[in-house]
Amino acid sequence: MRNTNNHVSKIGIMGGTFDPIHYGHLVSAEGARDEVGLEQVIFVPTGRPPHKFGYNITNPRDRYLMTVLATASNNYFQASSIEVDRPGFSYTIDTVQSVIEMHPSAQIYFITGADAVLDILTWKSVEVLLNICYIIAVTRPNYQLDKLWDKLGDILHCPQKRILSMEVPALAISSTDIRRRVHEGRTIKYLLPESVEDYIAKHKLYKH
Ligand code: ATP
Ligand code: MG
Repeated sequence: MRNTNNHVSKIGIMGGTFDPIHYGHLVSAEGARDEVGLEQVIFVPTGRPPHKFGYNITNPRDRYLMTVLATASNNYFQASSIEVDRPGFSYTIDTVQSVIEMHPSAQIYFITGADAVLDILTWKSVEVLLNICYIIAVTRPNYQLDKLWDKLGDILHCPQKRILSMEVPALAISSTDIRRRVHEGRTIKYLLPESVEDYIAKHKLYKH
């Protein structure tokens, strides 16, 4: 990795439950990488996401392994187990801080979908977060990012330019829909990488 005075490396973090990871996640990360010029995108499956407390989430090891499989063919992508290895709830601020410790001179970009970013005011230590990284909010069908700017208003004393919005080809794919399809015995082909589809079948995930 080059690091001279006029070259700051840019690292993306794609966080998510990834239960399972699908093409919506991969397209978003690749779009951000290309548009912002990220040197790498680290996919971080959450350990225990506080906003999904009470849901029946697949165990972290399976979600992490599916993330490894899905990212294997892209040289810019890698999967990290930092959150699944950490006990307790997973917060974006902790993950960003861990990545900064590993790459102290890099500029960090946290990539997230429009649905998740609309909840940004509920994120732990959001004002600190916006001071230490950029957020890339990618479009997702049925979520209007314009609302975000109204919502942030005067509440956050952060420059709006810390949150970048980005158009990605609209993919109406969600993990919820994939899980439901598997449960109902319907096809999930072309919604996610074949390697992940095979993993789901082999380990009989989402059947019950
Ligand atoms: P679930 O239905 O279980 O909530 P999901 O498909 O929303 O799953 P998550 O793991 O919750 O996937 O999402 C991780 C991140 O990826 C979030 O920031 C989310 O907004 C974003 N994301 C998920 N699917 C898409 C998509 N089709 N297009 C753009 N962004 C997406
Ligand atoms: Mg989601």
